[in-house]
Amino acid sequence: QEMELYCAGCGIAIQTEDKASVGYAPPQSLEKETVICQRCYRIRHYNEASTVTLGDDDFVRILNGIGDTKALVVQVVDIFDFNGSWLRGLPRFVGGNPILLVGNKVDLLPKNVNRNRLINWMRKSSADLGLKPLDVVLVSAHKGEGVERLVQAMNEYRKGRNIYVVGVTNVGKSSLINRLLKQFGESEMDITTSQFPGTTLDVIEIPLDDKSSLYDTPGIVNRDQLVHKVAPQELKVIMPDKPIKPKVYQLNAEQTMFIGGLARIDFVKGERQSFVFYLSNHLNVHRTKLANADELYAKHKGEMLAPPGPDAAESIVWEKFTFKVPSGKYDIVISGLGWIALHGKGANVEVHVPKGVAAGLRPSLI
Ligand code: GDP
Repeated sequence: QEMELYCAGCGIAIQTEDKASVGYAPPQSLEKETVICQRCYRIRHYNEASTVTLGDDDFVRILNGIGDTKALVVQVVDIFDFNGSWLRGLPRFVGGNPILLVGNKVDLLPKNVNRNRLINWMRKSSADLGLKPLDVVLVSAHKGEGVERLVQAMNEYRKGRNIYVVGVTNVGKSSLINRLLKQFGESEMDITTSQFPGTTLDVIEIPLDDKSSLYDTPGIVNRDQLVHKVAPQELKVIMPDKPIKPKVYQLNAEQTMFIGGLARIDFVKGERQSFVFYLSNHLNVHRTKLANADELYAKHKGEMLAPPGPDAAESIVWEKFTFKVPSGKYDIVISGLGWIALHGKGANVEVHVPKGVAAGLRPSLI
């Protein structure tokens, strides 16, 4: 194309190729007199925040912009994908600003999960990643659970300053912003868009009082997220959409469990014990002998052992984590997939996941 078009709303260069990226506008909209990108369109016409993704440069500029101002930073994470939710570099860029950590999708947890233990684990995991949040709040953007508590916490901790909401894509940040818009009451709401310092990108601005606002920042892509290892239509299989129903297996040493074609759990050594899988109800789990696991995978990857489908399965590079699970109650956590609870006399377990996806051990949430 010869002429570059720019969005009349936010000034970003218009593109018609990638719906998930900034500046997208449907091809037919280019015939209109003024062209605006889909993101601005949705903000204007539906008061609705939507997800756009950013290049790394813009991301760094945005984070820098936040570090230069005095604000409360609200980081939204997906409680099923803590590591995949992580915004790399955030600790470096937030400067001295306080951080409120919000764990979203709490509606998916089974009832018997101890919320305080989950919060403690989130605190500890944050500290391991170099961040010390002021507080951790669990919410469900879908069901509204915890949102009132979140509004209280934001008001308490911001001390009159602006709020920046940050998060990687898929954590439910847009859903949460939309929920907050409802919670604050649309009548008082006067959302506008304004430009991020140093970028041509608009942010949604929700005035909180005469002097301060809440800003919704663009979603950033974390390429290590498990959701990027499968095709978009397979997402509904790996992401839970209903409260998780745990699946219990009695395993002997030298047995292997496949979670679709996305993870392989080898029970290498230990007494017979139960492994309880907390995963999306749509995911299939397959049991086999450790000795047969390689062959089974080679034969059935992409079909019986799916997702991912045949093409994506070919390109997976595996990474292995080795755990010596102590006796007592522990969870092996696979970021983006869920966790496996062991309440036995200890076990040696090897976990294979696509490279970049995190696996770890934590005290059980039950
Ligand atoms: P964003 O990319 O961070 O803006 O996330 P979205 O708001 O687009 O949500 C990403 C996915 O998570 C969508 O499939 C949502 O339906 C889902 N989601 C968001 N919030 C919740 C929630 O509170 N509970 C559940 N179960 N799913 C959620």
